[in-house]
Amino acid sequence: MPLLDLTIPPAGKPVYYFRGREILVDGQGEAALQDVPVAPGSLRKCCLDTTIGCAGALLDAAAEAPSGLQFIPVPTYFFTHDDAQNARASRLKGYAAWLDATRFCPFCGTPLQLHGSEHALACPACGRMHYPRIEPCIITLITRGEELLLLRNARDTMGIYACLAGFVEMGESLEQALRREVREETALEVQDIRYAGSQAWPFPDQLMVGFYAEYKSGEIRIQESEVADARWFRRDALPPLPKPGSIAWRLINGRL
Ligand SMILES: [Zn+2]
Repeated sequence: MPLLDLTIPPAGKPVYYFRGREILVDGQGEAALQDVPVAPGSLRKCCLDTTIGCAGALLDAAAEAPSGLQFIPVPTYFFTHDDAQNARASRLKGYAAWLDATRFCPFCGTPLQLHGSEHALACPACGRMHYPRIEPCIITLITRGEELLLLRNARDTMGIYACLAGFVEMGESLEQALRREVREETALEVQDIRYAGSQAWPFPDQLMVGFYAEYKSGEIRIQESEVADARWFRRDALPPLPKPGSIAWRLINGRL
């Protein structure tokens, strides 16, 4: 069975612990922890991925870090680890969060069971299979010659400017989603769309697909419900940016 739903973290196996958007690390900043003394009431969900021999555990918001360990933001962890380590952490958080949120068959309401050979849930009543949800989002850095278009989100309170991003809608290609989001949020048109790279972003289950695009035409007119500000910046005069570790930071700094 590829996934096992456990009531306690498995002894002797690496376990990644999450509390909201944070991950538990040891003094060396490592997250694959063995035999951590977790208070029984603080464990919300734990699942073992038998294909990689590691488990993911979700802890309640009130859980405290055991002695010698600390919680750090997951993006901070991403910044200090390589892609293979980050993929493992994202995978385990994703499966644990998916199992935590997916208990009943959406067609018939019957409690779901883990599938015997796939990373999936099966309905014992109607036979339907349910797979983990992955939500694709486009994120793009738009350039106009030497200038970068950066946006401040309407919900931002820190003065951070980032790349334009949005969810892909049903039936769209990634390129269509990108053009639509750019048009909706800034009223601009873009050209020369180039794939840059992607990043799993397990908050809760996004796949960020990064692109570069070049300005084509139009004047900036922001969608006020989504965007507080959007403007062109020169590289030698950039505003506060998203934290290293995020795909936005990587796009802006050419590190994808
Ligand atoms: Zn069913």
